[in-house]
Amino acid sequence: MEDCIFCKIVRGEIPANKIHEDEEIVVFHDIHPVTPVHFLLIPKQHIVSLNEIEAEHQQLLGKMLWLAPQLAKKQGCTDGFRTIINTGYSGGQEIFHLHIHIIGGKKLSPMIH
Ligand code: 5GP
Ligand code: ZN
Repeated sequence: MEDCIFCKIVRGEIPANKIHEDEEIVVFHDIHPVTPVHFLLIPKQHIVSLNEIEAEHQQLLGKMLWLAPQLAKKQGCTDGFRTIINTGYSGGQEIFHLHIHIIGGKKLSPMIH
């Protein structure tokens, strides 16, 4: 947790362009956006990945998904967006603090790989 970059964002130790914060969740723009809209929802609590979630996290994960479309619409994704959760090494996860990517702001192609 000490060295986790997303925990540092939660603690305000490194800057992030935040679009939402409450007692459990922080949402901020991805530093390297792959689409015109690209933001990340993270729990304030350090959960490594979807592989590490416990029964007690169900409400938190539900809240993150509940927030996602509201924030996507506010960011201009009025006609849809894509939700991505990379999990573990083979899932392409690079930051090992659970996060949900929301990408959009343009017409996306079907995902094929
Ligand atoms: P992953 O591959 O782990 O699902 O994606 C991690 C994401 O975090 C990447 O899209 C990357 O651009 C983003 N990211 C990495 N470091 C930072 C940072 O310091 N600030 C912000 N805002 N995004 C970051
Ligand atoms: Zn963390």
